[in-house]
Amino acid sequence: MAPVGLFEADATGSLVFVNRTWTWLAGIPPEAAMGQGWTAALDPRDRRRVRDEWDVAIATGRAFHSEFRFRHPDGQVRWLEAAAEVRRAEDGRVLGWVGSLTDVSERRLQEEQLRTSRDRLLEAQRIGGMGNWEADLELRPTFWSPQVYRIWGRPQEHPPSFEEFLDAVVPEDRTELAAAYERLRADGEPFDLEYRIRCPDGELRHLHCVGTLAREPAGSPPRLAGTIQDITERREVEEALRERDAELRSFYQGSPLMMGIVELVGDDVLHVSENPATAGLFGAPNATDGGHRLVSEMGISPAQKALWVRRYQEAGSAGRPVRFEYRHQGPETPRWLSATICPIETPPGRRPRFAYVVEDATERKGAEELLAEQADELARSNRELEQFAYVASHDLQEPLRTVASYAELLSERYQGRLDADAEDFLGFIVDGAIRMRSLITDLLSYAKVSSRREPPAAVDTAEVLEAALVALQAAISAGGAEVTAGPLPRVQGIGRQLQQLFQNLIGNAIKFAGPNPPRITVSAEPAGSAWVFSVADNGIGIAPQHTERIFQIFQRLHTRAEYPGTGVGLALCRRIVEEHGGRIWVESAAGRGSIFRFTLPVQARGGR
Ligand code: ADP
Repeated sequence: MAPVGLFEADATGSLVFVNRTWTWLAGIPPEAAMGQGWTAALDPRDRRRVRDEWDVAIATGRAFHSEFRFRHPDGQVRWLEAAAEVRRAEDGRVLGWVGSLTDVSERRLQEEQLRTSRDRLLEAQRIGGMGNWEADLELRPTFWSPQVYRIWGRPQEHPPSFEEFLDAVVPEDRTELAAAYERLRADGEPFDLEYRIRCPDGELRHLHCVGTLAREPAGSPPRLAGTIQDITERREVEEALRERDAELRSFYQGSPLMMGIVELVGDDVLHVSENPATAGLFGAPNATDGGHRLVSEMGISPAQKALWVRRYQEAGSAGRPVRFEYRHQGPETPRWLSATICPIETPPGRRPRFAYVVEDATERKGAEELLAEQADELARSNRELEQFAYVASHDLQEPLRTVASYAELLSERYQGRLDADAEDFLGFIVDGAIRMRSLITDLLSYAKVSSRREPPAAVDTAEVLEAALVALQAAISAGGAEVTAGPLPRVQGIGRQLQQLFQNLIGNAIKFAGPNPPRITVSAEPAGSAWVFSVADNGIGIAPQHTERIFQIFQRLHTRAEYPGTGVGLALCRRIVEEHGGRIWVESAAGRGSIFRFTLPVQARGGR
């Protein structure tokens, strides 16, 4: 039994007696305790309250009961419980108080510790999203920790009835949950299950719930107890992952591309996983080995196996995807395969892994080969044709010269000795020969454009124009033409051909001038990766229906009597421009002048 301190106070509430135990408990000598002296020994935190309580007892003449701390001079603090009864005279007059003082430090400490550990438990539950619950054997919830209320989105008043509780559970999960509770109650069979609830705010939550029969403390009636954890977030992530997985799986399974995962095993390749498309080419894997098979068992030659192994090793050491195409020799007809293999990161010590995607490129390869063959064929026949035109026009010049010179000789030597008809005929022969010469010359320059390829070089188009104007000097002064030019750029090209181009366009502008003296403007402006050149005149113009036709060889809009020419000039211009990787067109209307435009790329075809 703990020692008990005793004290006595008079009718005014002044302490008049304390025993030795009292002084030992309070830590002050009896003299100091007398009157109101004892209150000085109270811990400052309790002093006000206890004095007030003592004052109330004195004023009302009632018993006094209080718990407080005494602080000893050495700093030690003790929790004490004081209880004092009123002593009264026969007539009811208050005589004073007699009281006891007991040390309750031990109990206070335990209470304190209990409070702390309870606070800690609640905090842990809050952080872990987990709460605990209890119910009686009638399944009536008897206790919910604050976290359970939070999870259920309910105010912390009292736990709901079992029926209310089940109502919040989504219907699909209700039966299983009720059955689990029933088995726990009836047979003591613990449960561990997941179910979903609909919170008052409509939100769906996934809960993990554990229930068991509790028989603590010993002797108390058994009850149901368990925990509840909110696992909504985890479930949602899992759900999203499952969806992604299903998407990827259907993509993988349904893909017409062959796809799979392999591992390098020595000088062989182990197919760890492969999609149906792969099985389509190599035959389905043996069902008993779970889809795992070595390349050497897939009916491909050792040489092709070695090729794959080499590529995998290459991708592995480079640490990046490797692409290659090869002609696959399978048991059936050979196929072109286009493969991409990609190293997959594996933990150290594991066999290197790779993903592969293979496309059957047989059709594409076939089409490409056909296209290449056709292009070759076309280029060859073009070359032959150009060669033919060149040789023909070149070789035609020789007999033509003979015809022309003998016709001239004939008309000179026999002047005045032939009759008028013969003179006329001779004249036609000479005219014809001259015309044919210009046709042949034009044809020859047309054929030369691509039969005599020169490498393109940097060309100053202002200089090229200058040269063209010099060559056209006679026509310019005869026609009274005026040519003005804006700033012209440097381009990559063949100077000789570009001069011919300017010469033809300006020559035409002078030739098709009409009644007014020709005014010709040459300019260039940048447009993206090209220059657009313009040669504009004030001549007779071209009706819209002819703007395409005039670029074809031998196509003319006038008789030779109206305007001389062969109809090769613009065809030649188009050939030159196209050889340089550009295009040419005309903007015009009859009687309104014409603007011939052509583009020359900043970087010419085949140029550096
Ligand atoms: P040619 O000048 O020998 O007739 P081209 O191929 O140079 O042959 O021109 C074809 C035709 O385009 C010409 O006959 C003419 O009708 C028309 N043409 C060419 N340039 C002009 C121009 N500047 N103005 C009007 N018509 C033109």
